[in-house]
Amino acid sequence: MTNLTSQNWQVKDEQYVWHSMKPYNPNATMIVQKSKGAWITDTTGKRYLDAMSGLWCVNVGYGREEIAKVAYEQLLENTYTPLSVGHIPAVQLSEKISELLGDDYVVFFSNSGSEANEAAFKIARQYHQQQGNVNRTKFISRYRAYHGSSMGALAATGQAQRKYKYEPLAPGFIHVTPPDTYRANEDHIEDPVALPSVQAIDHVMTWEMSDTIAAVIMEPIITGGGVIMPHENYLQGVKAVCEKHGALLIVDEVICGFGRTGKAFGFQNYGIQPDIVTMAKGLTSAYMPLSATAVRREIYEAFAGSEEYDFFRHVNTFGGSPAACAVALKNIEIMERENLFARSEELGTVLLSELQEHLKNHPNVGDIRGKGLLIGVELVSDKNTKAPLDIAEVNKVIGLCKDQGLLIGKNGVTVAGFNNILTLSPPLIITLDEKDFIVEKFTNALKALQQQS
Ligand code: PMP
Repeated sequence: MTNLTSQNWQVKDEQYVWHSMKPYNPNATMIVQKSKGAWITDTTGKRYLDAMSGLWCVNVGYGREEIAKVAYEQLLENTYTPLSVGHIPAVQLSEKISELLGDDYVVFFSNSGSEANEAAFKIARQYHQQQGNVNRTKFISRYRAYHGSSMGALAATGQAQRKYKYEPLAPGFIHVTPPDTYRANEDHIEDPVALPSVQAIDHVMTWEMSDTIAAVIMEPIITGGGVIMPHENYLQGVKAVCEKHGALLIVDEVICGFGRTGKAFGFQNYGIQPDIVTMAKGLTSAYMPLSATAVRREIYEAFAGSEEYDFFRHVNTFGGSPAACAVALKNIEIMERENLFARSEELGTVLLSELQEHLKNHPNVGDIRGKGLLIGVELVSDKNTKAPLDIAEVNKVIGLCKDQGLLIGKNGVTVAGFNNILTLSPPLIITLDEKDFIVEKFTNALKALQQQS
């Protein structure tokens, strides 16, 4: 089996593997053989700079020997202990996460971003029940946001795929329009609570009755929906409105967390402290599946009844396994040692401004935006009307990048053609030369598109 030719691997892949995103992802027609740093090599021997860090997760880059070693050693030291008991790496990691969050949090572990969000929803509902507020069951989230594929997380998701084949979804999720510095400019408004995108949440809470709302869930910056930037004061406004109505604020840091936006967590760019924070991907840089739901201590303490412990009825066999926690600890140690949060901020700022400079006159580049090494390039057919560029043209750019050895992402929402945002989110360890490579190849691809049309 290991000696199959490249073509045969492709054939067998077609035959047996059910890919989760293949039709959506024009980069998928390759079988990866190895990866190192920011680069992956396919079975034909062709090398690509992975400017998507896998799926926004390999923040410290591929093939880090010290992480592999820690996993190996931990698997031998103590293979498995459920978290109904306890083990050392989970203790160390929860304390570290709390420290990075900048306040006193208690951490519940699971295995994926979707699961972390499911746990957050259940914790929020039970927290309110524990306080006697049994009607506080509803959640508010935003259109265009993605929060996962399981039924609750999909119900929170504001993208079209939740509508296609999977209804009825979990009830109790209400969507509002997100802020968008490109398409719904609120720049002229200073007061956080006066922002129309914040008012939208305030209105839902008022008209649904405050005492029926459990929580609001949002990413600091919508990532998978197309790197949609909020007004700088938006999160402060949302936090104020949540406090006014007694709702919790859940911040989904599955992508924004662990340096992607230039800080340990994305919300730290916006001067707020959430009640619940969910995280996955960059927590281990994808070296092992692990996710976490961190809750402020007051929330955790509400689970302790006066006579008996009203525990959280949510079993998770693999969540917080010793090796996954040990890997996460080593991953965070590397991020801190190599100063990767600050590096993401610095390199992201340079990458953003260079792309803006090179592409400012391109007729199809409507907007280039982002924070840290989270960058979105919105392609339009007309800069004045901002009409999204045809998907076939968007895919062409991805192909032109791939031909030159650069893998980029495409994000947005298929409905209404808003699948027109190219995404650049390389590992946080990229060198200046690699940054130049991204700028050069990406710019070439867009110029070639212009020449073809
Ligand atoms: N939240 C966000 C913001 C995500 O981007 C994702 C995955 N792309 C998830 C949750 C779900 O994570 P997972 O795929 O690990 O379930």
